[in-house]
Amino acid sequence: MNEQRPPCAVCNMGGHLVDERITETDDTRAVIVVVRQVPAQVCDRCGTTTVTDEVAEALARIADAQQGNAVSGTVVVDFDERRIAAAG
Ligand SMILES: [Zn+2]
Repeated sequence: MNEQRPPCAVCNMGGHLVDERITETDDTRAVIVVVRQVPAQVCDRCGTTTVTDEVAEALARIADAQQGNAVSGTVVVDFDERRIAAAG
């Protein structure tokens, strides 16, 4: 085993980032959008979760797209990997 994992930039405990799937909630808009299965990196020491810029942009687009699907309340969707490739 010689797997390279990036070090955690948040803690000073020697933590490393591990690929996991998380649930992200966007409540900055009229409709609260909960996105599951979001690819993220989680520190194995302090638990800090980070997503790439591409994923963050995809989440924003998903949240925007869901605003038209409901007047208010909460929408739960699964993350779509293709959203990342659509970034142009
Ligand atoms: Zn950490």
